Amino acid sequence: MSSEIVAIDGPAGSGKSTVARALATHLGWSVLDTGAMYRALTSEALFSGLDPSDEDAVAELARNARITTLPRVNINGRDVHDDIRSDAVNVAVSTIAANPAVRTAMVERQRAIARHEPGGLVVEGRDITTVVFPDALVKVFLTASLDERARRRGEEGGASVARRDHADASRVASPLRRADDALALDTTELSVDQVVEEIVRCLKNITSN
Ligand code: C5P
Repeated sequence: MSSEIVAIDGPAGSGKSTVARALATHLGWSVLDTGAMYRALTSEALFSGLDPSDEDAVAELARNARITTLPRVNINGRDVHDDIRSDAVNVAVSTIAANPAVRTAMVERQRAIARHEPGGLVVEGRDITTVVFPDALVKVFLTASLDERARRRGEEGGASVARRDHADASRVASPLRRADDALALDTTELSVDQVVEEIVRCLKNITSN
């Protein structure tokens, strides 16, 4: 397994993907967007006519799906790179991500990806610091005000972002929460470079000890 992992969690619009990509570029590491995996599965479930709350059918789909996120998001040979950002996927993804059997299948894949990664890996999602890679070199929890997060998602008022946060934080299986030893950063008034700098500082402290 790649022994070099930076794990980043946080609610929708907190800056995870942007920061993860910028950090990975800075370090020359790879990046894994686990939200894209849950979104791809959601796109496929809807495409296959499944009811997102049909736990058994969706779990079966999750166990058998072939998912890649780079260079474009693809599931079972279908390019879903654009579809995973659709309103339909936004609405259904938290239901699918709350399914414990789906999470088991996804966590297994995420760990397998890390095992096959020869270099360092920046992984971002909702349960990366708490469940998937609790022993990551650095664990980061990003937040930002609801107004700012809604603005970043191009959304007026923030109702849909708030609804998804509530669903992700209140589910029984691996709810979104900050790990006790995660570095908490409020990105509301920080630039991407400032957040990356802070994480790199933390990484340097750890690797030099
Ligand atoms: O990060 P993104 O907003 O694309 O994630 C979409 C959804 O996928 C989240 O709202 C959450 O329901 C789910 N998710 C998850 N665990 C992860 C990553 C994403 O439950 N590790």
